[in-house]
Amino acid sequence: RRRLLEELRDLPATTVDGTRVRLRANIELPDDRGFVHRVNAEGVGLYRSEFLFMNRPEAPDEEEQFNAFAEVVSAMRGEPVTIRSLDIGADKSLRSEGMEENTAVNPALGLRGLRLCLRRPEWFRPHLRAILRASALGPVCLMLPMLTSMGELRQAKALVRALQDELCAAGLPFDPQMPLGIMVEVPAVAMAAAHFAREADFFSIGTNDLIQYALAVDRGDDDVNDLFDPLHAGVLAMIHNTIAAGHAAGIPVAMCGEMAGNPAYTELLLGLGLREFSMYPGAIPEVKEIIRRTRIDRAEALAQALLAGDRRALEARRED
Ligand code: PEP
Ligand code: MG
Repeated sequence: RRRLLEELRDLPATTVDGTRVRLRANIELPDDRGFVHRVNAEGVGLYRSEFLFMNRPEAPDEEEQFNAFAEVVSAMRGEPVTIRSLDIGADKSLRSEGMEENTAVNPALGLRGLRLCLRRPEWFRPHLRAILRASALGPVCLMLPMLTSMGELRQAKALVRALQDELCAAGLPFDPQMPLGIMVEVPAVAMAAAHFAREADFFSIGTNDLIQYALAVDRGDDDVNDLFDPLHAGVLAMIHNTIAAGHAAGIPVAMCGEMAGNPAYTELLLGLGLREFSMYPGAIPEVKEIIRRTRIDRAEALAQALLAGDRRALEARRED
């Protein structure tokens, strides 16, 4: 089995009928970059930048952040690196100085991710400058987490433009074409995806949070773990709508939540139209193996059955 998975390393992620699929890696620290190469991922679909800030007394300054991003971007040798801007709050807490513990009654619905960053330009500006500077070294995409409103997207874009002007004035290089995309992890954004697709350069579906919010099930609460259901027809409708709206607008749509790396859902996601998956690097070979056995017409039939609430369709497919 191990040998089989190793042989897959250099084979393309292409379905039986020739549909090309991109498999990218989720990473948390620059040290993970070796793993990305071992599984031959097509770059990084989610770099969780908040890990640079965790377990330390002081937040890293712009230079330290730039060095960390630069290390990953250079190591990818031309494959894209999707850097997600700081996503802290709720399940990702910090104890760095000046970044106090979140004491909100309902942290998952409180100041987290982009909401928090927009309120704290003193952290957000050096963070974005470090990302922008790293974009001079190879293809970088900037991804905004927990985006809820169009106003937030416009505010973040205006800030990026202002920082680009600053870098320009200081003679520091950056990629002026760097795509700026959003995580789709708030249900209202998934439902209004057509609207957001007009102003975002790409989507990446964050199923960990999207499912949590759509089903009102805390992703970290063991008491309700059994209710966390990626196959709920309402969840699948949101995923389907996001993919369809993104593609109709001509922008790339990826998925970077855990669902993307679970081989049990690979065929279903292909049937829902997904063509770009980002996951824990160790999951790539198995997902690739399934992609290479999938026929898109059969995958679409499976997706239609599950969208209509027929969960047995998935079990029937496994018994085939
Ligand atoms: C998600 O919410 O699905 C996601 C990929 O982000 P995180 O797990 O870091 O919140
Ligand atoms: Mg998330």
